Amino acid sequence: MADLDSIIAEIVHEMQRITERGHVADYIPPLACVDPGKFGMAVIDASGQAYVAGDADEAFSIQSLSKVFGLTLALTLEGSELWSRVRQEPSGSAFNSIVQLESEHGIPRNPFINAGAIVISDILVSRLGRLGARQALLDFALSQSGNPEGLHIDENMAAQERDTGFRNAALANYMRTFGNIRNPIEDTLDLYFHQCALTMSCRQLAGIGGYLMTGGVDLRSGRMITSVPDARTIMALMMMCGHYDGSGAFAIRVGLPGKSGVGGGILAIAPGLASVAVWSPGLNSQGNSLLGTLALERLVQKTGWSVFNPF
Ligand code: GLN
Repeated sequence: MADLDSIIAEIVHEMQRITERGHVADYIPPLACVDPGKFGMAVIDASGQAYVAGDADEAFSIQSLSKVFGLTLALTLEGSELWSRVRQEPSGSAFNSIVQLESEHGIPRNPFINAGAIVISDILVSRLGRLGARQALLDFALSQSGNPEGLHIDENMAAQERDTGFRNAALANYMRTFGNIRNPIEDTLDLYFHQCALTMSCRQLAGIGGYLMTGGVDLRSGRMITSVPDARTIMALMMMCGHYDGSGAFAIRVGLPGKSGVGGGILAIAPGLASVAVWSPGLNSQGNSLLGTLALERLVQKTGWSVFNPF
């Protein structure tokens, strides 16, 4: 295998020349005005060494990628009790779909669709309070990022998420009728919108993903962030549900647990080997980064990192 620096440089070079880049999310101006020509990639290996190329140090909105970190925090606070309020099954539906909630009595299919992530936010608000939970998520990201410079919650983004978040409000209200939202809707959604507005670079995002690559251990301090079974559960859910109704195609093409965000970021984990972040703002029809997926497919072809690789 060629060295990672040249592999990543080659992939970024290829991606930068592609003109069909998908469509940037346009439901709020701060996402709509991002330059679709941006492309960044960062890999952190098991020794903590970082390999980066392109716009890997430019901050972007991580959006639904934050669902991984919300779940991690909620699991450490709530343990397996949490699974009585959100299931562990793929949805096969769009990220913001409401249809399954009726037949499933207000219990979302998984924590990575919006409905599931809103339940996770509700659990965090119950445990830590609205502002305490927001701070805990920010602190988690800051402490795991390797270099916290510039990592922040974009208040303008959070406010615009709130002002346009009617469907998320509908999901929360609907689940409340089944007793699966237990705090005032505004508090639970406030946390959800603020976590979506977490803003960081690929290098920082790959740094945060380090604890999943190691099976729950902080690469730098050696501290346990999650148990091994919880790290496995989170990665299994990323593989099955991390790309919504595009999760099957992602698993086949890339073969790594991955989570996307509508800001164009993807975090993918090669267990025991690497934490990888890519960012390309243009999305495919399922709301997942078009070139980000292609870049990960290339990376796995060149490194053999697919979890299905022994063959
Ligand atoms: N803020 C977006 C929403 O809640 C996040 C969705 C996503 O990244 N897929 O609709």
